[in-house]
Amino acid sequence: MAPIRLGLVGVGKIARDQHFPSIAKTDGIELVAAASRSASVDGIENFTTLTEMLAGVELDAVALCTPPQVRHALAHAALAAGKHVLLEKPPGATVSELTDLVSLAAQKRLTLFATWHSRFAAGVEPARRWLADRTVRAVRVEWKEDVRHWHPGQAWIWEPGGLGVFDPGINALSIVTRILPLPFFLTEGSLEFPENQQAPIAADLAFTDANGARISAAFDWRQTGPQTWDIHVETDDGRLTLSKGGSEMVVDGKPVMSEADSEYAGIYRGFVELVGEGRSDVDVAPLQHVADAFLLGARRIVEAFHDEPNGAA
Ligand code: NAP
Repeated sequence: MAPIRLGLVGVGKIARDQHFPSIAKTDGIELVAAASRSASVDGIENFTTLTEMLAGVELDAVALCTPPQVRHALAHAALAAGKHVLLEKPPGATVSELTDLVSLAAQKRLTLFATWHSRFAAGVEPARRWLADRTVRAVRVEWKEDVRHWHPGQAWIWEPGGLGVFDPGINALSIVTRILPLPFFLTEGSLEFPENQQAPIAADLAFTDANGARISAAFDWRQTGPQTWDIHVETDDGRLTLSKGGSEMVVDGKPVMSEADSEYAGIYRGFVELVGEGRSDVDVAPLQHVADAFLLGARRIVEAFHDEPNGAA
């Protein structure tokens, strides 16, 4: 089969760090064009908008690497033009945007892939298998990082739809919704907003599953020093920890799995398979939990932590 001809929209950090190298290493897909308001990418055709790209080059698929606030309009236009679509996480600014895209992709018989890159971390599928026949007693998620280091200059992340600390926190939720054997539901939430921002800088969440197991999550963007991306699961038959964003798995204190970053290679292999099989892969659960946190969470204003105006720049 001829490789999928891919156009990418939004040449920012994640496109450069992960998408370009992963596409180049994946059989069955080829980057032929990019649409960027300001950047140009060597060796492929360059356009300033998706509309121009769709009119100017033959494509089979489009990857959207923009901030979530503009994702729905772009995805809708790409699907309407008959292209398969790969969405960076989070797949939209609202849940109903995603529902709309699912319907359009099905109607047009196109692949829609709402990617959750953390689900491709090496420990996630082994953890899912280990937990499948155990009873979960309690879960503790700690996802704490330094926003100044990871999101310098990203004004969009503090705006409505940018999700604030849920931008990384949704990665943890994407793992927990994948590995736990039962669905779970938010019972309490506390969201902290800097007084000069429209998105939260920290969140404390409590969930319960159908068996009454408590699942708690602490997301914080004010962490300095070592960064924490850990999930601890107590079961009736041992304790599992996923650390380093899901790339390391430890059971009862013994290392079981540790593998360097393979997330985006898995994403593009998965996209080629989905297109080949004429399927979509969209799981709204992580975004739904974030929406629930905004619905149920109590909002607290914290003193601005920034020295600089407008966030972490
Ligand atoms: P970024 O560095 O700010 O890049 C986003 C790019 O999108 C911009 O460079 C810009 O590219 C384009 N864009 C189009 N409309 C925009 C608008 N209204 N405002 C700002 N940019 C706009 O962000 P990023 O870190 O790559 O994140 C993009 C998405 O990837 C987010 O949803 C994020 O959650 C996800 N992601 C990021 C990381 C990470 O480590 N940074 C990891 C995993 C997932 P042009 O100038 O080319 O138009």
